[in-house]
Amino acid sequence: MAFDIDMIKAVYNRMPARVEAARKLLGKPLTLSEKILYSHLWEESTNEAFVRGKSYVDFAPDRVAMQDATAQMALLQFMQAGKDKVAVPSTTHCDHLILAKQGADKDLKSSLTASGEVFNFLESVSNKYGIGFWKPGAGIIHQVVLENYAFPGGMMIGTDSHTVNAGGLGMVAIGVGGADAVDVMAGMPWELKFPKLIGVKLTGKMNGWTAAKDVILKVAGILTVKGGTGAIVEYFGPGALSLSGTGKGTICNMGAEIGATTSTFGYDDAMERYLRTTDRADIADLANEIRPHLTGDPEVYANPEQYFDQVIEIDLSTLEPHVNGPFTPDRATPVSKMRAEAEANGWPMDVEWGLIGSCTNSSYEDLSRAASIAQQAVDKGLTTKADFGINPGSEQVRFTAERDGLLQIFEDLDATIFTNACGPCIGQWERAGNNERVNTIVHSFNRNFSKRADGNPNTHAFVTSPEMVAAIAISGNLGFNPITDTLTNDKGEEVKLDPPVGDELPDKGFDVEENGYQAPAEDGSNVQVIVSPDSKRLQLLEPFDPWDGKNITGAKLLIKAFGKCTTDHISMAGPWLRFRGHLDNISDNCLIGAVNAFGQATNKVKNQITGEYGPVPATARQYKAEGIPSIVVGDHNYGEGSSREHAAMEPRFLGVKAVLVKSFARIHETNLKKQGMLGLTFADESDYDKIQEDDTINFLDLVDFAPGKPLTIEFIHADGSKDIVLANHTYNEAQIGWFKAGSALNLIKQEANQ
Ligand code: SF4
Repeated sequence: MAFDIDMIKAVYNRMPARVEAARKLLGKPLTLSEKILYSHLWEESTNEAFVRGKSYVDFAPDRVAMQDATAQMALLQFMQAGKDKVAVPSTTHCDHLILAKQGADKDLKSSLTASGEVFNFLESVSNKYGIGFWKPGAGIIHQVVLENYAFPGGMMIGTDSHTVNAGGLGMVAIGVGGADAVDVMAGMPWELKFPKLIGVKLTGKMNGWTAAKDVILKVAGILTVKGGTGAIVEYFGPGALSLSGTGKGTICNMGAEIGATTSTFGYDDAMERYLRTTDRADIADLANEIRPHLTGDPEVYANPEQYFDQVIEIDLSTLEPHVNGPFTPDRATPVSKMRAEAEANGWPMDVEWGLIGSCTNSSYEDLSRAASIAQQAVDKGLTTKADFGINPGSEQVRFTAERDGLLQIFEDLDATIFTNACGPCIGQWERAGNNERVNTIVHSFNRNFSKRADGNPNTHAFVTSPEMVAAIAISGNLGFNPITDTLTNDKGEEVKLDPPVGDELPDKGFDVEENGYQAPAEDGSNVQVIVSPDSKRLQLLEPFDPWDGKNITGAKLLIKAFGKCTTDHISMAGPWLRFRGHLDNISDNCLIGAVNAFGQATNKVKNQITGEYGPVPATARQYKAEGIPSIVVGDHNYGEGSSREHAAMEPRFLGVKAVLVKSFARIHETNLKKQGMLGLTFADESDYDKIQEDDTINFLDLVDFAPGKPLTIEFIHADGSKDIVLANHTYNEAQIGWFKAGSALNLIKQEANQ
């Protein structure tokens, strides 16, 4: 059904020799990350010692995973690559397009109706091209991957930024855009800038209310949303050994929130237990044979400062539970300081919802620990003040949790059990009575950007562990600290919640009746993939135009984005998810969440043809219709957040030629390159201030576009004065080839036809 044992054997067979060769080449002991990276090089033997943070390297990932929202565009692109079958084991997971409203049964039915066309497309295209298909309701991609496909020492990519979750089982697993997935599925190398390495040494042992989630909430506070950019975070030390496999997954999952390329842990007993309990004893046996290669060398962990670019140490024994937010996951507050912090900032103290689940925290262990708190509410005569919503991570977890009575505990508190899917984590939450009210919710998810959960910009969402979500939801108060505070029960007594207890893995093992997996046809040549020309949801792609070989001239500024501009701001999720497979229709959300530096409003920019202010997409469409190129200017860490390539394809489709920013989030920068756009950074950040809203823009030396050579751009202001701006870029020869061909896919096709 699931994992490909022959592929894993092949990885493990070659790993010892490759690790040894890399050790010799680098002349030093190796981190786990280096072992995995060097044993997944595209070229079998290399004599090159790559420079972290500099060298572009071709890799050969073992697997690809795609979720329904991103898979549409990835597979529409793959269909254009002219291949019969995917080159590596790949899977599609239907999880993002499922609404959370009334509870699993009703929600799943209505989502099957609402998105049936897309699910059918994904099912048929997966069937045709040899891709495993996980049906709606089967679970959230990263939980399903952890349960079925992740393996120590492996490398995978996935079209979702939380693909990194699989680091919990010792993988290097990286979130990419659909275009990268297409490369790998088409049998091409996958390119990545060799990451820097951040070591996180964990000492001590967690106790009381502290959970694995608190490790990453603390790390996010230290490193911020940018601190992990371009780096793999490798966890090690005695504390790491005390964490469960799924706990490690939680920590790696939220590595995406610090911008890290990925995070990983060395293979250990907890991973072995997880593999065996999830029916993969054969992988555990194989992994045990090469165990020393599946973790960092002892010399590295003994002297981490010598081998990592940065080292952080966290003592789990003294780590406090954290509550991060609102609006950004790196605003980390220890629970003992939350009340004061919330009051000082005027955050609403009443908590309306406690949401447990998402790919970050929906393991059996998570549900059991949170249930232990919920059970206390019943036992101690407490009434919960907030509503509860639960999204189990997979049907296997849900079925087992139901069998073991865990879900019943939440149901006794009137919790709504939503589908095994993303739901409220991605704006697919039809929240009753929701409007623009200022309110607070707590959840065990990973992201809490404005509007992310329910579309309400005034919802203050706080991220914490599932057990803390349970405690805070029961208390109904954001400042509640279960370690010190008491609650009043139905008899008027003051009672305290005891620390959570739970099971790392179910005593009776996992169980499931119908896991929702569908294997592809052996020979898919007769399988028809149908996309209706009238469809509002799906549209076959037309190739983007190649570069005409000339400097871009007479371009207009479409928008100068101010402050945080995530992929959610560039290509909003929520209701727009339904157009993920239709480039023209979804382009109507292009940059509508970005704040315009001129006027500080969203979706209101000056149309330089009419002089009027209007929505970004309509303005871009008018420029395009009149043959006028446009450019986007942005601030720091532009494009942080998810891996969605729509955030690059939409501006490309609407005629934007270049995105010039102070700095990029890695995945988005790559996505722009893949779509044949110019992703550029200001050589001098202060030049951002020189850009004016009615500028006309000329590229002066694009005809000499070359690796390592900055581009010169002229901004002519309305009064006739001008500024010359130097723009850096990170394009190598191959990526310049993408730009010239119009997109990476155009180049793949050209090369296939040669
Ligand atoms: Fe789904 Fe949320 Fe996880 Fe993304 S982060 S895969 S939306 S549960």
